[in-house]
Amino acid sequence: MPELPEVEITKRSISKHILGKKIKSLKILNPKLRYNLNYESLNLFKNQTIKKINRRSKYILIFFDNENVLLVHLGMTGRFYFLNGDRKIDTSFYSNNKIIKSHDHLKITFEGFSLIYNDIRKFGFIRRLTISNIKFSKHINKLGYEPLTKEFNFEYLKQKIYNKSSPIKNLLMNQSIVAGLGNIYANEALFMGKIRPNKKGNKLKDYEIKTLVKSINKIIKNAIDAGGSTIKNYHNSEGRSGSYQSNFKVYDRENRKCLRLGCNGKIRRQVSSGRSIFFCFKCQR
Ligand SMILES: [Zn+2]
Repeated sequence: MPELPEVEITKRSISKHILGKKIKSLKILNPKLRYNLNYESLNLFKNQTIKKINRRSKYILIFFDNENVLLVHLGMTGRFYFLNGDRKIDTSFYSNNKIIKSHDHLKITFEGFSLIYNDIRKFGFIRRLTISNIKFSKHINKLGYEPLTKEFNFEYLKQKIYNKSSPIKNLLMNQSIVAGLGNIYANEALFMGKIRPNKKGNKLKDYEIKTLVKSINKIIKNAIDAGGSTIKNYHNSEGRSGSYQSNFKVYDRENRKCLRLGCNGKIRRQVSSGRSIFFCFKCQR
């Protein structure tokens, strides 16, 4: 599932092609997504020019030269790809990336090329917002601060977790606490911070919370710099693979040796709240 770094990379790769461009037409190829695509509301974007593209948490917000905003969530397997012309796929984007056309949902056509939204598992969505109602959107209005912002700091994280008895990893994945973090990067940040994923939020010491803020920022920054992680179904919009997965220290490394210098522990996997936690029993406390 794409997390903050993968969504950021997707935003950057689509921005390169569509920023400042005018939409000529929109065609729904399969309306079934988390919320069904709605022709009437999507058609309002016809002949509109894209002014700005932002990311907030795991959402991409595409702003137009009027009130309209497209809110995109990639769900588990959503992605964009470009068609150069009507039928011909520019394969240079997809050298190692198989696209199953029957999972295409929306085709947005610009002058000379199209942008297709494809989603195998259909948990993603694309909906219309307006500039004035963004702040009331249920997707946006409860989001916490983002890693790599000055608001995301020790005081903020402490205030969010000091009285919570849930496992710290669940708290980190709660989008109203840390926006954009998911299972992979939460596991990795906890390893970097030497904190066990199932430790309760209210048991963390101040120094651990400080370390955790630093670790989250570092992991997220490094992952963005590496182009995200290539995980199961994720590739960026140019079909290029991110490379951060080669830096995973715990995620998907069950039974393998701990990579922390001087630690001879093994990575354990447990299931907690339906998600895998990966940690070293020896150096994460
Ligand atoms: Zn270890």
